[in-house]
Order: sequence, then structure tokens, then C-alpha cells
Amino acid sequence: MLVKNEGAYAMDYCLTADFHTHTRYSHGKGTIEQNVLAARRKGLKKIAIADHGFNHFGFGMRIRDIHHIRREINDLREKYHDIDILFGIEANLIGLDGEIDIPEEYIEAFDIILMGFHKAVIPHSAKDGWKLFVRNAFYSVLPHKDREKIRHDNTMAMVRAMERYPIHTITHPGAKIDIDTRILARNAAKHNVFLEINGYHGFLTVEYVKIALDEGACFVINSDAHRPEEVGELSRGIMIAQKAGVPSGRIANSREFVR
Ligand SMILES: [Zn+2]
Ligand SMILES: [Zn+2]
Repeated sequence: MLVKNEGAYAMDYCLTADFHTHTRYSHGKGTIEQNVLAARRKGLKKIAIADHGFNHFGFGMRIRDIHHIRREINDLREKYHDIDILFGIEANLIGLDGEIDIPEEYIEAFDIILMGFHKAVIPHSAKDGWKLFVRNAFYSVLPHKDREKIRHDNTMAMVRAMERYPIHTITHPGAKIDIDTRILARNAAKHNVFLEINGYHGFLTVEYVKIALDEGACFVINSDAHRPEEVGELSRGIMIAQKAGVPSGRIANSREFVR
């Protein structure tokens, strides 16, 4: 392993992968090779390049870059035999019916699909724009009754996305949008989708991880690196998982995880 944390907590994880790293193909600062080199330096055995989905304003990955990225990854796989490099994407939730911003014909282009909610994204329709983006932007000032309804709609949109697409991980659940963690976790467990403990945003929180654990969910601890030097920086996520008491067998990038 690589990232080993010992200390005041009972759990000691050996994490050998980082499934969420960005490059210049969206708004990361480094190249794919720089991320790979950083991961190798930290002793990781697996890395996913997961740039932002196509509908992100300004810096989403471009569809025409898919084959460049694939070729670059194939070349790096030839060059570095001690690390497994996955072509991923951090897709955006764009519709209440669980639509994500990967056209059907490109789903197979990726080795791993992560999905999360982000602002500044082109919605699936005008109605989705209103219900998913505008309402959430004003969430904190709305009456309790409206917030309950929005929270429910947010949660069901995530659940439908898990039902419709081969999603590996929900990124930073609870960040940027309010979600019912219990319902999300129950459905993630049912569809074998991992909930991310994100070292960059600090979500899931300890409290949410405990709830999700209780519902049978499994997790993945990722860096969400936007610079090569942040790749494999998992200590904040590890601390959250340790405080919540997550066993390493429930963490997708731990050595012990078998599925
Ligand atoms: Zn994100
Ligand atoms: Zn990200």
C-alpha cells in the first residue's frame, strides 16, 4: 500500500488507488502523465483520470477529446507497467429523471463513470434547469416545506441516475446540494455504487458516513486532485472514515476490498 494512516483511531487503511483526479482536459492544472507520475511516487497501484462531464460551463471535457485521452492513456499504460490507469469521467447530474451528461453512445468509452452534482452545468431541459439548478441555488432562503420537496427531488434524481447508468461512484454526496443520505445510501448499496469520501470537499461528513454505513453502503476515498501534487492526498478522507468507524473491507480503494 501506500497511504497508510495510523494514530488515535482503531481503523488503519491501506489505500492503493485514487479514482478521482482532474487534468487540463477540464480545469485541472497538470497533464495525465503528471498525475500518473504523482500516483506512482506515492506508491498507488491504480489511478483514474476523471475530468468534468461535457455539460460543465467553460471547462467540461470535450467530446472530441475522448479519443485523444484514450490514446494518451494507452501510451502511458505501455510506458508504466506498475500502475493501472483508468479513463474515467466525473459526469454531471442534469435532470430530475436521473439524466447525466454522457450521451448514450459514449457510455462505453469510459472505464469508470463517477457522477456528482455541480452548479454551472447545462441542464437536460428548461424544467430541469428550474427544478434542479435554480431551486437549489435559493435553497437556503426557502421555507421548510419547499426545502423538503427539493431535497426529495434531489435524492430521487440521484437514485434514478444509479438505476439508469453504470455509475461506479457518487462524488462528494451532500456537497453543493441537499440529499437524504439514508435513501441515497440504501440505493447505492442496492446498485453496488460507492459513495465517495472526498478529501478535497470534506464530504461525506462523519455524521453522514455513519448513516450511510448503517444502510449498508460502501465507500471510496478519493483526492479529487486538481493539481498533480494533490493526487493520492487522501488523509482528510481517511480521517473522516476512521472517525465514522468504516471497516476497510467497505472501502473500494483499500487493499482488502474484494468484489
Ligand atoms: Zn466534483
Ligand atoms: Zn472532481
